[in-house]
Amino acid sequence: MIRNLWCVGRNYAEHARELGNELPPEPLIFLKAGSCVVRGERIELPAWAGEIHHELEIALEFGEDRCFRSLALALDLTDRTAQNRLKSKGQPWTLAKSFRGSCPLTPSIPLPRDLSALRLRLLVNGEVRQDGLSSQMLFNPESLRQFVLKRFPVEPGDWLLTGTPAGVASLQPGDVVRALLTGPDTSDLLHADWTVVLSST
Ligand code: ZN
Repeated sequence: MIRNLWCVGRNYAEHARELGNELPPEPLIFLKAGSCVVRGERIELPAWAGEIHHELEIALEFGEDRCFRSLALALDLTDRTAQNRLKSKGQPWTLAKSFRGSCPLTPSIPLPRDLSALRLRLLVNGEVRQDGLSSQMLFNPESLRQFVLKRFPVEPGDWLLTGTPAGVASLQPGDVVRALLTGPDTSDLLHADWTVVLSST
């Protein structure tokens, strides 16, 4: 069981702008419970939720020495209806970010040598929704690692979600979702597919 998902908000300028947010002067960190992680090929949308947005992110796992040891792609699923309501009242985001099943995670791969030259893409029903480069992060993975280690009780096996590029949008039951990660030479490092269903719970 994963303990903690340390997540970064607004780490790509274009995504911050598409939601009408200012760029943060230091990393904006929030938590998802580790038990939000789901593996497998289904994304279950809670029946009670509002509009659920996909946020494709590079996820990095902390090793014993608190350095990164592996990489995966994560979907930081977000109840945007709830988040907008919470943001307008200055309330915490937990209801919008940490619901059951809110973090589909792909199988992991060994840490690529160069984290600054990765391209992540999300396709929904064959159409590209998100297309970002890790070099566009406002705070790069190493500076995020140092930031969270200084402030939080990070444990080996915890994950860091490094923020999402522009193009977030809602998911509907029946959608077919594909995530892709490619390296500097456009080699396929990782890909995963999901089908979106409505949860009965
Ligand atoms: Zn996110």
